[in-house]
Amino acid sequence: MLVSLIIPCYNEEEVLPILYDALKGVRESMKDTDKTFEFIFVSDGSRDKTEEIIKGFAEEDPDVRFIFFSRNFGKEAAMYAGMQKAKGEYVAILDADMQDPPALIPSMIADLDSGECDIVAARRVTREGEPPIRSFFARCFYKLINKMIDVEIADGARDFRLMRRQVVDAILSLSERQRFSKGIFAWVGFRTKWIEHENVERAAGETKWSFWKLFRYAIDGIVAFTTAPLRLATYAGFFFAFAALAYMVFYFIKAIILKIWDEVAGYPSLLCFILFIGGLVLMALGIIGEYLGRTYIETKGRPIYISKEESDKDKD
Ligand code: UDP
Ligand code: MG
Repeated sequence: MLVSLIIPCYNEEEVLPILYDALKGVRESMKDTDKTFEFIFVSDGSRDKTEEIIKGFAEEDPDVRFIFFSRNFGKEAAMYAGMQKAKGEYVAILDADMQDPPALIPSMIADLDSGECDIVAARRVTREGEPPIRSFFARCFYKLINKMIDVEIADGARDFRLMRRQVVDAILSLSERQRFSKGIFAWVGFRTKWIEHENVERAAGETKWSFWKLFRYAIDGIVAFTTAPLRLATYAGFFFAFAALAYMVFYFIKAIILKIWDEVAGYPSLLCFILFIGGLVLMALGIIGEYLGRTYIETKGRPIYISKEESDKDKD
């Protein structure tokens, strides 16, 4: 039975040899079983020696396949491309930087073999080695998104997972361009077994995620999986309409019935209200814009990635 291991790589020249050794170790340790492996390296527009290194692997090792993107399309696209290319009955996705310990793969395979689950996914129980601010915002993000969407996205869930063919086909059938994998993985369902591990620091190199990139990613995730923010404008609109009505009634009674006439006053409060409501209107427009923009991008129907080179294009 073929097991496909997909490795998205973006400028990972420093760690690739370490990872490849680990993968070979896994293959070696399972050579007495019915499992065979293919290693699919997806270079996401790497500009360092990553692609040369991968080609070097492929020359010596028939189990190595690869696909190189024409530019950086993001990890989501890289995972999608890898899954499209994978031929295995079981398919795993793991980071190049050894943060997803390849040594866990044999036990994950055993879990799928036992038939009690369709997905074995890893989850970090600690966020050690991460800046505290980043952990804090990450936690807030998971709380917020889980309140808003129907499916549960696990805090600390990584993209590291082993899936059955059926699950992979389900994921591939969600062919949206703006991919938020954490949500997609949760959305397709199936029985998931979580394995927990401590946070492992990258073996070498630097993380490709800046705080700003993560923030954008969080917004993308929310917009991709729920239209709840759109309702915010509706709620705020109702609230202010009723508040204004109550205010009108109040002044009507005060002026007509109690005959209390105000001097022209209240300039500061007026200004505050105008600014506040103006802000809300802009915010609501912005939210609508986020959704509209995404609709626009999806309707263009562009491919999720463009490959410039593949290991076995003709054979596919
Ligand atoms: N990655 C990618 N494209 C990108 C950014 C990252 O393919 O635009 C890959 C990267 O090479 C690594 C994995 O995604 O294998 C996770 O990236 P990283 O380790 O930088 O993220 P972190 O572990 O800090 O979340
Ligand atoms: Mg990493």
